[in-house]
Amino acid sequence: MAEALFPLLRIARLRMGSDGAGITTLIAGAGCPLRCRWCINKRLLREAPAEPLTAAELLERVRIDDLYFRASGGGVTFGGGESLLHAAFLRRFRELCPSEWRICAETSLAVSPELLSLSVGAVDSFIVDCKDMDADIYRRYTGGDPDLMRENLRFLLEAVGPERLLVRVPLIPEYNTKEDQQRSAARLRGMGITQLELFDYVIRA
Ligand code: SF4
Repeated sequence: MAEALFPLLRIARLRMGSDGAGITTLIAGAGCPLRCRWCINKRLLREAPAEPLTAAELLERVRIDDLYFRASGGGVTFGGGESLLHAAFLRRFRELCPSEWRICAETSLAVSPELLSLSVGAVDSFIVDCKDMDADIYRRYTGGDPDLMRENLRFLLEAVGPERLLVRVPLIPEYNTKEDQQRSAARLRGMGITQLELFDYVIRA
């Protein structure tokens, strides 16, 4: 079987406090099943096409910060696009990279249960952007299936536990309100999610 390639959009080094523990390198990939109105990734893709890399090639690009990762308890964060579309790649990368590195995945969970299951063994912590827990708001904003996201979230919580899972709940201009955001947070707490981050989407022209 051909080796899985990662469609690299950009690498951002030496990040702290924005996507996982310690010092991290954000690796953004192309491709997402959702169609969010305020997505910046479509613009990134227009500006620079994605570059397909093997796990070994990507590892060479990010190895430069090995000492920072080890010293700070950090590692790499795969973002998107939808990082879990590349679950087979993530598993290969996990096999090759130093075991001390923490692998984090930013995801909307708009992927098949099979891809989600595949990623569980490769990823130390998940950062989920749930958009909104209300089905109508979710559909209007993303064009995606709210039931798939919610079922995947339940599965993930069961599979990895609340300590490996952070759920971000955005305030989305023109789509939800502060009250909607609070309602989503309450539903997530009711499911057993303990790490929540409420934030505002910033729209760039
Ligand atoms: S989930 Fe993220 S990458 Fe996908 S369309 Fe929405 S904002 Fe863009």
